[in-house]
Amino acid sequence: MNTPVFSPRFVSSAILAIALPLASLAGSAEEVLYFEDRADIPRQYTWDLGLYFSDAESWDKSFAKLDAMLPAAEKYRGKVGESPKTLAAALEAMFALDKVIGPLYVNGHQKMHLNREDKLGADQSGRIIAMNTKISAALSFIDPEIAALPDKKVAKFRKAKELQPYLHYLDNIWRLKAHSRSAEVEEVIAGSSLPGAGHVNAYEGLNAGDIEWPTVKDENGEDAVVSPGQFGRLRGSTDRPTRKRAWEAHMETVGQYRNTYAATMGSKIQRDVWLARVYGYPSAVEAALSSTNVPPEVMETLIGSVHDNIDKVQGYNNMRRRVLGLEDYQPWDGQVSLLPDGGKTYTFEEAWALAMDFWRETFGDEFADIAQEALDNRWVDVYSNEGKRGGAYSWGTYRAPYYLLLNWGGKFDDVSTLVHEMGHSVHGVLAGRNQSYHDAGTDIFLAEVGSVASQSLFGEWMLNRTKDPEQRKQLIDHALKSIRGTFVTQIFFHEWEARVHAMAEAGDALTADSMGEVYADLNKLYAGDTVETHELSAGGWARISHFFRNFYVWKYATSFAAGEALAARFRSGDKSAAQDYINMLKMGGSQYPLDVLKAGGVDMTDPAVIRAVMDRFGMLQEQLETEFGL
Ligand SMILES: [Zn+2]
Repeated sequence: MNTPVFSPRFVSSAILAIALPLASLAGSAEEVLYFEDRADIPRQYTWDLGLYFSDAESWDKSFAKLDAMLPAAEKYRGKVGESPKTLAAALEAMFALDKVIGPLYVNGHQKMHLNREDKLGADQSGRIIAMNTKISAALSFIDPEIAALPDKKVAKFRKAKELQPYLHYLDNIWRLKAHSRSAEVEEVIAGSSLPGAGHVNAYEGLNAGDIEWPTVKDENGEDAVVSPGQFGRLRGSTDRPTRKRAWEAHMETVGQYRNTYAATMGSKIQRDVWLARVYGYPSAVEAALSSTNVPPEVMETLIGSVHDNIDKVQGYNNMRRRVLGLEDYQPWDGQVSLLPDGGKTYTFEEAWALAMDFWRETFGDEFADIAQEALDNRWVDVYSNEGKRGGAYSWGTYRAPYYLLLNWGGKFDDVSTLVHEMGHSVHGVLAGRNQSYHDAGTDIFLAEVGSVASQSLFGEWMLNRTKDPEQRKQLIDHALKSIRGTFVTQIFFHEWEARVHAMAEAGDALTADSMGEVYADLNKLYAGDTVETHELSAGGWARISHFFRNFYVWKYATSFAAGEALAARFRSGDKSAAQDYINMLKMGGSQYPLDVLKAGGVDMTDPAVIRAVMDRFGMLQEQLETEFGL
């Protein structure tokens, strides 16, 4: 299917909301971090949304083009495989539509991300989603017609001059030929995507609107709502009774709605299982692996590397308990900073200056200049305001700005997030400037790699610049937490996801109890007796919105390992590491993920690459223990 290039960006950025607590509201004394009214934010720290469309009329004008353009692509129905020339023309007509949809989609949604009450944004988002579904269904004949070409014709087409620019795109369809379905079946599936999204809409509606999240007293005695948006901050509170209250209130509320959560999650999983069957895969996991073209051994190594190092996962809990001076370690103690004051703070301007020095020194001028271009042209929305979406992301479209959404909180986490998200933006820009439209977009698997490497190197770059013991502790613990959050925890999530899909495939019922049991089992496996068992912990699966993206979490873990491997090349002093890194970003999605990584100097089929992550996790723990004098 023609997945517009923008979707991976959106997915990739959302993960940070899991790994890092939401921006807290305590920054430097002079810097205002939160604005009731967006109009009060200095202009240079806000998005220039006019870079895509100057006003609503120009958005409408572009939207109107889509209906007019559709017949030019639809006319190839039944003719796609007639000749290399018709195939190339059909693809171009389809990509032309995608190119128009992308900016409309991003721009409409971004208005709502700045203010969830934005009526224009809601209207535009709704219209473009419906239009995208309609166009996808109308053009769903193209890929099946390509897949249905007889082998002899494929061999001939591979050599045709007209098709050389599309070879990777085509190969990706031909390699999955055995799993392709007729144009008629594809049309039905494409048309079912909107009604089939009911479960995710219900899930989001439940979290964002229908549940009345209770209020607890925070560390200052103020009322705080334990909604998904606020929960991250509250469970990271340095005041233990506050985080206990918040955790219990949040999880009890999740528990009250357990049957509705189970119904939404269950129907999503049943849909994955059904789709895998429709496409002739033995299981939903295999369907997911096949779409990324990653061999199953990579996933096995991934899980194995964590299981073999469970002692390090549990050792980290024990170390945190000792540093925090706790008798017992509870589910609400996992996120709090190990430093009583939460660590050093940074204004956005200070952080920017540091990041810019890091980018120039580490990756060179080409990278740093694009970052500067992003800031100068207002692709960065820095501060929180009433109604703004939480977390952070980078999102853009082909040969257009890659916007960064931040909720600046002034902590090192925020500086690190800035470095991570800017990695995505530079990646998007470099790929766009060096690849054709259809080769520029990257699978989520590849999209995260550059950012992960950059974030990891930045932490170490900072560490090498400070002798301040408090800051050193903060930086090392940040690195540990990011391995735990974006590698270990994601593999835990993957195991849950794989097991419940297998249950559905075996015909077992997916209920709040059965899914909770799997979650509790995994909790036991990962934490052993280092974290007190709590009845409410079993409901943790209901909190993870990424489960609504089919087998997304393992990709994140794998790309984390790849990013660390890239970073290791820099650490070893390899002189060609920076150039290879930039070249890899420029390749976009022009080759399969593992081949692009090879160009960056990383062989993901080598188990040592994945195992190195847990080695580093152990090494950092020893370093932190030394800093704390344990
Ligand atoms: Zn990311």
